[in-house]
Amino acid sequence: MTVQHMKWWGWGVDGVAFSHDDKPSLAPFVQKVIDVDLNAPAVAPLAFEELDVPKSQLTEDLEKALSGVLGAEYVVSTDLDRVVHAFGKSLRDLVRIRASDLRRIPDVVVYPADEEQIVAVLDAVVAADAVLIPFGGGSNIAGSLEAPADETRQVVSLDLGRLNKVLSIDEESGLAQIQAGALGPDLEKQLGERGWTLGHFPDSFTHSSLGGWIATRSSGMQSDKYGDIADITKALRVVQPGRTLATRAVPVTSTGPSVREMILGSEGRLGVITEATVQVHRKPAKRVVLGYFFPDWKRGVAAMRAIAASDAAPSITRISDARETSFSFATRKTSKGFSKFMSSALVAVLKKRGWDLEQMCLSFIGYEGSEEHVARQRKLVKKIVSDHGGIGVGEGPGALYDQKKFDTPYIRDFLLDRGALADVSETSAAWSKLMPLYDTTVERANKAFAQLGVKGWIMCHLSHSYHSGACLYFTFAFKAGEGDPIAQYDVVKSAVQQAFIDSAGTLSHHHAVGTEHSRWLGDDISEAGVQMVSGIFSVVDPGRNLNPGKIV
Ligand code: FAD
Repeated sequence: MTVQHMKWWGWGVDGVAFSHDDKPSLAPFVQKVIDVDLNAPAVAPLAFEELDVPKSQLTEDLEKALSGVLGAEYVVSTDLDRVVHAFGKSLRDLVRIRASDLRRIPDVVVYPADEEQIVAVLDAVVAADAVLIPFGGGSNIAGSLEAPADETRQVVSLDLGRLNKVLSIDEESGLAQIQAGALGPDLEKQLGERGWTLGHFPDSFTHSSLGGWIATRSSGMQSDKYGDIADITKALRVVQPGRTLATRAVPVTSTGPSVREMILGSEGRLGVITEATVQVHRKPAKRVVLGYFFPDWKRGVAAMRAIAASDAAPSITRISDARETSFSFATRKTSKGFSKFMSSALVAVLKKRGWDLEQMCLSFIGYEGSEEHVARQRKLVKKIVSDHGGIGVGEGPGALYDQKKFDTPYIRDFLLDRGALADVSETSAAWSKLMPLYDTTVERANKAFAQLGVKGWIMCHLSHSYHSGACLYFTFAFKAGEGDPIAQYDVVKSAVQQAFIDSAGTLSHHHAVGTEHSRWLGDDISEAGVQMVSGIFSVVDPGRNLNPGKIV
């Protein structure tokens, strides 16, 4: 079997882990803000053998039918495969798996090679009245993969890992036809060999798939230039019970409500996406991410809004609030990157300008394209930054951020080993609502920490800017107290999500609904919207065989 998976208990591949050994400021920072001692002995996850893995309920009949389609090698019921496919990577998933709280894991994992086999697998699943859950990279954090705890039918996880090819590129149109199981590095390598890029780089890039991105409406960090996956995806093929849906790769169409849009964000409930035709771009001649400082969050956010409204078209506009900025400084390595740029000379300049360094906010702005295009964008942005009281600090911090961005996810497991619970919630809102939403969310999170009696931390960055608004991405952390860590996590997570809804934000800008966010869906899209979505699900999948219990 050639398909590689992440660690069953955490992020990324075995043998790679976060360490604070080379980051001298991190331990004092974490001690100060959430009262967790990073130097105390860590509690490692259980050994796999210690997990209490429920027995597979796969019947001989269904096993035979699946093996008949795929060959026995690609029908796998080992405990490890079943556990790996049971969850995504939300904090809830990680805490539960470490506590051996597995509930209803898949009975079998199948690895089809092509669409024809997927049709036959789905036919067999529907004939057996079983459940089928498509699996891409397993990186979602919305509870999108887990079967309902009370599911009595057999559960089949369909891993798309063998469908990982770029099938064709229409060079004239910049349209690539790509199989849905391709992970980020798979598809960028194949596109890159021919001079193209998709331009979709979520933080989970290394372990998430094209089909998963589409099924969760993902956003990559360069979305300001390339668009979100909803913009990038031009056509789809989807295997559904008894039929196959195919849409055409046209730039725009006026053929009634968009079926393509219905599949976007459908989390496996409307079928298995087998391939997509996506917009690709020539690799840019130049790519650079520059660092900027702003005196405070308010002026920094106003600058991002001004950039979005201007003629400038950067690929990334991102600004961290003062707390996230201080966290970034705390994770700097000795004598590299940020520390070099926060030289005593720079500090003196900022102090002379009257800056309160505790309020300072770090921003990254990315530029891509021809040399001339990049030069012009930089000039336009420089003026806006300066009009908002900010200053440029060159390429160093941006280059460091760019190199390290795919390592950051490892930090959550490291914190969990040391008794700290950390997770994220993100939203989008109109520019006019953004600052009140930010204030309300921070206030509600702090109230939730107080309710739990813990020292907590919430920080935020703005990314993914649009003409009408932007995404705010919050990270929160606290030291787990006595008792159920998930109940404590729920207090904070619910407070943050409710703040979004109460402040005219959406329940998620790019992390989907799953089971984690579904209780707020009616508030977000109205009960009439929920009814429409339910109606579409029951028409396409009357037997509720496709990933039941997600979204609605
Ligand atoms: P999976 O987790 O395998 O599946 C997610 C859902 O999609 C499930 O419901 C599954 O059934 C369905 N699905 C998967 N493949 C198919 C298919 N072929 N057909 C039909 N349904 C399918 N998201 C972002 O958008 N941007 C980020 O920057 C980002 N950063 C992250 C960082 C970390 C550390 C983590 C843990 C997650 C992050 N995410 C981010 C969330 C996650 O990576 C995305 O939701 C991603 O799109 C999931 O893709 P996947 O292939 O891992 O899907």
